[in-house]
Amino acid sequence: MTALNWLPPGKKAAVCFTIDDVHPGKSSDAYEAGGDLASGALGHVAWLLDRHPQLQTTLFVTADWREINPAITRRSLAKLPFIRDRVFLSDILPAGTMRLDRHPGFVAYLKSLPRTDVALHGLYHVRKGPHIATEFLDRSRAECTAMLAEAISIFRKADLPYAPGMCPPSWAFSSDLGEAMVANDLTFVASARDIRTAIAPDAMTAMSGLRGVSLIYPEIIQQGKLIHFTTNFQATSSLDRAIEIVEMNGLLAIKAHIIKNGCGHIALDGLDELYRNYLDLVFSELEQRYGNSLWWTSMAEITAHINTTHQPQTEDLELAAHDA
Ligand SMILES: [Zn+2]
Repeated sequence: MTALNWLPPGKKAAVCFTIDDVHPGKSSDAYEAGGDLASGALGHVAWLLDRHPQLQTTLFVTADWREINPAITRRSLAKLPFIRDRVFLSDILPAGTMRLDRHPGFVAYLKSLPRTDVALHGLYHVRKGPHIATEFLDRSRAECTAMLAEAISIFRKADLPYAPGMCPPSWAFSSDLGEAMVANDLTFVASARDIRTAIAPDAMTAMSGLRGVSLIYPEIIQQGKLIHFTTNFQATSSLDRAIEIVEMNGLLAIKAHIIKNGCGHIALDGLDELYRNYLDLVFSELEQRYGNSLWWTSMAEITAHINTTHQPQTEDLELAAHDA
């Protein structure tokens, strides 16, 4: 683990809030994923931002979302070796249906949200073969580079500015994906979720995505070229867990998913009214306990802070070499 000096002077710990799977899907589509604007799940985000003037959010947005169902629906095809890896095993949307540049009202709404970053969450959020949403899994560096370039070109065409980072769908990270991110000038990645491991300064991730990275501190990975952030808190986590992270001078990295009900698959951390109200309570408690000693920030802001203040030491680079 790096001994990163990542907190600004006067700050004891930090909080950031990120939301995955945001795309223009409406309640009349397979998923409401932000497309209903203020009257849908993004309205909960706007409500939290309004009630907590220090809060920042990062929306991880998919450039051309094509997933309709997170589960395999073509079950007979899924049984055929060779074939199953070469076809879509779930129904998908035609390319371009949810492409950001075709939804200017959605883009305008994202841009209107205060203190909100948009960052990348894959190109289509779906792939051929049994791992429906894990679109970067087993892809070569060249394939990942091309997919990210395509995603970025869609953000540009949509005139939607993006923060230089990504949460890869299904948390799947590889060294090839890391190099592809660097080649596309991305500087941070959030590819681990661990809401089970007990909080401790030396605790390492052991749940979804990248394992063996710090549970509560930003960390330099990919031979010094990317900053990694671990999600360590969600709807099912206790207030005590949040306080432990703050007391250990960590980054409380809270995750929500914009889709609560995906074809009957209920997300535990889907952003509904209940989760919104719980977060309201957690944020109020943190504000009351810690006041200005808490840095309400974003992954992009922490990354920029680290990259302007941190002079990489050889030791860091060696330690950071375990990029999964
Ligand atoms: Zn996702």
